[in-house]
Amino acid sequence: MSTDALVCVVGSANLDMVARAERIPRPGETVLGYDYVEAAGGKGLNQAVAAARSGARVSLIAALGIDGAGDTLTAVAANDGIAVGALRRVDVPTGRALINVGDDGENSIVVVPGANARLDARHVRIHGPTVARSQIVLAQLEVPIPAIIAAFEVARAVGATTILNPAPAAPLPDELLALVDVLVPNEHEAALLGGVEALRQAGVATVVITEGAAGCRIVTADGEERVAAFRVDPVDTTAAGDSFCGGLAARLAAGDSLHDALRWANAAGALATTVVGAVPSIPTAAAIGELISRG
Ligand code: ADP
Repeated sequence: MSTDALVCVVGSANLDMVARAERIPRPGETVLGYDYVEAAGGKGLNQAVAAARSGARVSLIAALGIDGAGDTLTAVAANDGIAVGALRRVDVPTGRALINVGDDGENSIVVVPGANARLDARHVRIHGPTVARSQIVLAQLEVPIPAIIAAFEVARAVGATTILNPAPAAPLPDELLALVDVLVPNEHEAALLGGVEALRQAGVATVVITEGAAGCRIVTADGEERVAAFRVDPVDTTAAGDSFCGGLAARLAAGDSLHDALRWANAAGALATTVVGAVPSIPTAAAIGELISRG
């Protein structure tokens, strides 16, 4: 793949703190846990890792706290070859997800955005040259919308392609929608945003709806096209959407057609479901290429 395939991700980074117990506590109750793991997460970091593993050169614009979790997440990104020069360190805690999992499969999760909420347009503009060098600028909705708008404005000014994964689902201001080239919602998010036609009327040229085991659907002015999924045995769907978006960004940056890039993205998403966890489940270009060649 060309080393000129540059992807800039503007998004969140979290430390997931996962405690396991026989069951999750009721309000006011304390239960004894038997296992604890920490894992890197956040849609921005996950998608940056996915784009890097799909072969792109990736820079991540994100905000982390001045704390151990911030150091850990910086190391996780660097370990996948992601450029970390545009990571901002702020004096609020790094974003965290506090996750309790019970043996009955129940969970309860508190997400504290922390530093992610401090990613602002000014910081993005300071790193405008990083955005402007990229062919693809990719964002999600776990950071403030003005930061995304600032990045997409730079992208538009230089003719880069903008991709927005509207997750977690939230209303999108017209100002943002007008800057999106490719919107990638899942079925649930597409419905919450008023449906594909409304999105297309708001100025989004290409909507790609991910449909789990059914693959994905492209809707453009030329009509609708389905891109078939790969058949796998899923064990955990965490990071399937993130692997899909990162893979799509990497292959579009490398110059693939939308259809070819979505075939790659379908393979990336499928493989992510075959491994437990977020970052550990994000597949490499070699694994994706192999799945595609098998067919
Ligand atoms: P999200 O995880 O964001 O809700 P989806 O469930 O639509 O998104 O999954 C994203 C992509 O991952 C799908 O478009 C598909 O390419 C792939 N994928 C997800 N689940 C499966 C599955 N069971 N079998 C094959 N591919 C899958």
